[in-house]
Amino acid sequence: MTQQDNHPEKEACGPGVRGGVDYLRISVTDRCNFRCRYCMPPEGVPPLRHADILNYEEIVSFAEAAVEAGITHVRITGGEPLVRRGLTGLIGALAGVRGIEDLAMTTNGSLLAEHAGGLKAAGLARLNISIDSLDPDRFFRITGGARLEPVLAGLKAALAAGFEPVKINVVAMDGLERELDRFVALCRDHPVHVRFIELMPVGRGHFAAGRFVPRSRILEALHEHARLMPAASPAGAGPARYYSFAGAAGTIGFISPVSDHFCPRCNRLRLTADGRLLGCLFSSDETDIRPLIAGGRRRLVRSITDAISRKKYDRRADGGARRQMSRIGG
Ligand code: SAM
Ligand code: SF4
Repeated sequence: MTQQDNHPEKEACGPGVRGGVDYLRISVTDRCNFRCRYCMPPEGVPPLRHADILNYEEIVSFAEAAVEAGITHVRITGGEPLVRRGLTGLIGALAGVRGIEDLAMTTNGSLLAEHAGGLKAAGLARLNISIDSLDPDRFFRITGGARLEPVLAGLKAALAAGFEPVKINVVAMDGLERELDRFVALCRDHPVHVRFIELMPVGRGHFAAGRFVPRSRILEALHEHARLMPAASPAGAGPARYYSFAGAAGTIGFISPVSDHFCPRCNRLRLTADGRLLGCLFSSDETDIRPLIAGGRRRLVRSITDAISRKKYDRRADGGARRQMSRIGG
């Protein structure tokens, strides 16, 4: 985000059509090998039928049209994107789309050890890895039974493959304060950017709401472990605010959708695995883009610019999302 995008006048009316909506999140699957308690019910959700999921050609056609509508930054997400077969091929195809300046992925990291090198070679520029706990038992409880070890192996592989920056997403829930020393050590010793994210009241987020920890509580607890100083945002910065401390190889950041109302600065569109275009995470306004992909580029580009112009820059003004987070992709 540029200085200009943060200008208060822009905040008053939102970034506007082509004036700042330049970021597209593409969910490539609703399936996931984890059951994070704030995201998926323990029994999982009935998976979409294969026939209902956009194929890779459709995703690439959509991305090309999105570039014409002003998109320059694309992030691949899920469910868990790496459970979808052939994902590296999609990354290669998207990396070849002229006009996509930044191609990134958010993953739970569990399958990254085997894929990091291939993703890098295919043209993926940046990685966010979600690691809610560095305590194996707490990690197991939060993720509904997943092991921490393969995720840490994935992080190691991402760094070895040369991804820079690597950001770590940590959804803040009670109990986090007791292991902040581990996260401080992680970004002291490695060039990673740990971001504490406030739990959002979306989908399963409602069920975990009693475990919500605000940014202020984490910041206060962090002072016991490090003297934080405001820091510049690493590449590809979004709504996070970053801090550094003496001797740190990385940074600590906060994404605070609850404490910090950042809807007015939102620059995002979201495409779901079943081909619905959403202007807002909290919105029920969805465009079914599959028939539009088949109908030709012009109509598709127009439907994307229409979705941008319908974006509301205050989530309270909308009816609320109908989907689970695992079906939107975060
Ligand atoms: N499976 C991948 C992962 O976990 O990184 C990608 C999809 S996941 C839905 C994307 C991001 O959304 C993750 O960092 C996850 O922690 C976050 N997320 C999911 N539900 C959330 C909620 N209710 N509040 C805040 N963040 C949430
Ligand atoms: Fe899966 Fe990501 Fe949701 Fe966890 S947050 S259940 S890893 S989609």
